[in-house]
Amino acid sequence: MKKTERPFAWTVDILRRAKLRPTCQRMGLVKLLFGHGHRHICAEELYKEAKASGMNLSLATVYNTLNQFKEAGLLREILTGSDKAYFDTNLTPHSHLFFETNNHVEDLPAELISVQLSEALLKKVNVKSVEVVVRI
Ligand SMILES: [Zn+2]
Repeated sequence: MKKTERPFAWTVDILRRAKLRPTCQRMGLVKLLFGHGHRHICAEELYKEAKASGMNLSLATVYNTLNQFKEAGLLREILTGSDKAYFDTNLTPHSHLFFETNNHVEDLPAELISVQLSEALLKKVNVKSVEVVVRI
């Protein structure tokens, strides 16, 4: 379904596919998270955006919803090593740059990084993906 056909219909589709009930708050957060391409975001940033767009909800609700979306496979958590949890709407394996000074996360293009796994490791385990966070 195209995003222009019915306002919010696409947010209901996303939630139903993830087997989550399409409440008003979840629909609003889906719109903010997935309405403009892939993005990285933490709960505090999403909370500010939700309040600015007129939503009436608490920071705790945003935290809980982000974790529900992660559990449902809509988001991935980026392990930055900071005390804040960052989430990515892009589910494909990829690496990140994490700028500690301003808590900014951005994608690290694959051509800018090279990771070599040893033969010993590859014989020992079945590697599904390699994702790196470079802290700056
Ligand atoms: Zn990313």
